[in-house]
Parts: sequence; structure tokens; C-alpha cells
Amino acid sequence: MTSDGVPQRTGNNLDPWYANYAERAAGLAASEVRALFAVASRPEVVSLAGGMPFVSALPQDLIISSMDRVMRTDGPTALQYGSGQGVPALREHILEVMSLEGIQGSVDNVVTATGSQQALDLVAKLFIDPGDVILAESPSYVGALGVFRSYQANVVHVAMDEDGLIPEALRQTIAHLRGQGRRIKFLYTIPNFHNPAGVTLSAERRPEILEICRTNEILVLEDNPYGLLHFDEPAPNALRSLDPEGVIYLGSFSKTLAPGFRVGWALAPHAIREKLILAAESAILSPSSFSQLVVSEYLSTTDWRAQIDTFRGVYRERKDAMIEALGEHLPQLSWTNPKGGFYVWVTMPDVLDSKQMLPRAVKELVAYTPGTAFFADGRGRHAMRLSFCYPTPDAIRVGIRRLATVVNGELDL
Ligand code: PMP
Repeated sequence: MTSDGVPQRTGNNLDPWYANYAERAAGLAASEVRALFAVASRPEVVSLAGGMPFVSALPQDLIISSMDRVMRTDGPTALQYGSGQGVPALREHILEVMSLEGIQGSVDNVVTATGSQQALDLVAKLFIDPGDVILAESPSYVGALGVFRSYQANVVHVAMDEDGLIPEALRQTIAHLRGQGRRIKFLYTIPNFHNPAGVTLSAERRPEILEICRTNEILVLEDNPYGLLHFDEPAPNALRSLDPEGVIYLGSFSKTLAPGFRVGWALAPHAIREKLILAAESAILSPSSFSQLVVSEYLSTTDWRAQIDTFRGVYRERKDAMIEALGEHLPQLSWTNPKGGFYVWVTMPDVLDSKQMLPRAVKELVAYTPGTAFFADGRGRHAMRLSFCYPTPDAIRVGIRRLATVVNGELDL
């Protein structure tokens, strides 16, 4: 206490309010990716670290005219608060987009959000009590791990291979956790063109994974921002298409259109969607009317499927450049060869540590994301994620050559 009876703050020197934070704030630690963005954004660095879509491939003029039309025809609505569930016309378009992956749903059960990241946060808020177990692939999306940590969940990773999550590993993990009396709230999975692993859950495994979750009363949270960005064959139908009552599906316009709109969505079982809307209203009142109307107008008036084809072509060329360069310059490493999406997962010999190696890489003007960012349990030291979405094919080749210099230097070759 001070002399006037006011409690003395017991913070540290850096943050005088340290002692006042809620316990869950401890889960809000800066990720490796975040720290990296600052370094890797220097123009001379080839960044294979971030997951930024190549928005320059978009038709800017069509986006401008969509914005213009929205403001001229529906300006007051675009500038106003809107429904917590989202703009109905956009939700109709979202059903159309999801139908490409075999999903049939009702507009009533679509909730738009400020990016699928916010939908992830809302689902976590609804379901996670401190200490609950969330199952996730091994590795998993860094942004989801951050959300789960902030709600004080324990993430337990389940093994995957080149065909995605391994059903037998899921069965064993659940049995083991149940044996310990732990509460499992949901399975978080990215079935298509996985971030960061670059693999896709095979069509054969999909019903099996769902059956395991159903019999164990575990909800499935299917996160599918990359699903339409396949290079050859389309991805198998969404998990949600096979089990509408057991799956919350998350989608996004960030990768098929642009992340700057911050428009994503959740398609939830009917019973859950009401809670989801209430949670959304409490968090943000309503998602941006302006963004939703512009995206809706763009989808109504342009050939958005052709635009997604353009993106596929761009990313495919970049992926090919990366795989080819890895084969040429880093044959001592192994990597996944994705059939879509943005990412390649590279595994290195045990003597190499991707986190320790990063400063050396940045000195050589190349950046990547160390594998440890994608695990909740400290694994991933001998792996890294390389993104091919943003740099040009030539820059990718330069970047991989620089990475080879770093790896060979570490190996003393
Ligand atoms: N899930 C995954 C797997 C992602 O890779 C991302 C973006 N990197 C998101 C969700 C969030 O995307 P957004 O909020 O832009 O829709």
C-alpha cells in the first residue's frame, strides 16, 4: 500500500500492469512468425517465411468498380452496423463457394466473421475451458495454436503422414487421453493443402476420421482456407459434406480473393450457430458491412472462378520452382510436394536446428519459419516451413540457393 491507501502495483520494470493481467494473457506470447515479419520485410531478404497471398494477381479495376457500385447503390448500408451473422447476400455466395467442395448447407447456418481467424477465436471461446484438450495435427497452424493457448487449452498433436492425419494415431491418442481422464473438446484439422505440412487428407481416410470422432463424441473443427487452390486434381470433398452435424467448417476469402477484406466464415451445426452469432455480437457487434458488401458485389459481377484459376496457375509455377530448386541445391534434405496451397514442409538431418540457424539465414538474406512455431510442445527443431506464395519463381530460386549456402555451412560441407 502507498501512504494514501492505494494498492502498490507489483509489476515489473517493463510493464507496470504485469500483475493485473488475467492468467490467459500469459498465452499471448509473440510467435516466431511475428518477430520474423519485421526482419524478412527488408527488400533484400527473400522471404519464404510469411503466408501472404499474391494479391497483385487480382484485377484491381474490377475491385474498384465493385467498391464504387456498392457505395453508389447501397452506401448507407455499407457504412452502417449490420447483422451479427453477416450480410445475407454474401452468405448466399458463400454457399455457392462451399458447394464446390460438396457442401450443402443453409444460409441460416453460415456466420461471417472478420477472417476465419476470428471464427477460430469464437469457436475456441465457446468450447474451451482452461485445461481442456484440443487435438491438432502434428504440426499445426501457428495462428490456431496461439488462439487455443490464449484460452488455456492443452494442445495434443496427432501424427500425420503424406496422406494427412493418421486414423490409427488418432484412435490411440484419444484412448490414451481418455485413460488419463482428460476432456477432449474438439479435433482441429486442416484437411487440404495443410499449413504448414503441405499434405492433404486422403479421400479414404476422411470417413474414418469422422467415425472415430463421432464414436468418441469429439466435435471436428475443419479449417479450409486453401481448399480451392489445387494445382491438378481438386481436393476430396470437405469433411463437413460427410457429417453436417459433427463438423464446424471454417472458410475464408483471404486466399481466393484478398486478406485485406478480412472476410471469412463459419458453417456450424444448427445448434451451435446461435451461440456463435451471440459470441460474434459480443466480440465485434457485426463484421464490416462495407467489406462484406464489396466481396458480395465482386462475386456477383465477376468470373471469380476464373480468378481462382489464375491464382492456381501463379502458385503452381512457384511451387514447381521451389521443388525443383530444393532438388538441385538441397538434396540432403527431404520435403513435401504439395498438390495445392502455399507451403512446403522441409525436414532436415537431426544435427541441424532451424531456430538456431535462422540468424545465419537472415544474414544470407533468406528467411523461413522454424518448425517449432507449429508445435505446442517444443518439437519441430529439425524442420522448417517454406512458403512459395509471395516471391516470384526467380526470387524463390535465389532464396533456395541462399538457404543451401546456410545449410551447407552448418553441415560444414
Ligand atoms: N487457418 C489457416 C490454416 C490459415 O493458414 C490462415 C491464414 N494464414 C487462417 C486460418 C486465417 O485466415 P483469415 O483470417 O485471413 O481468413
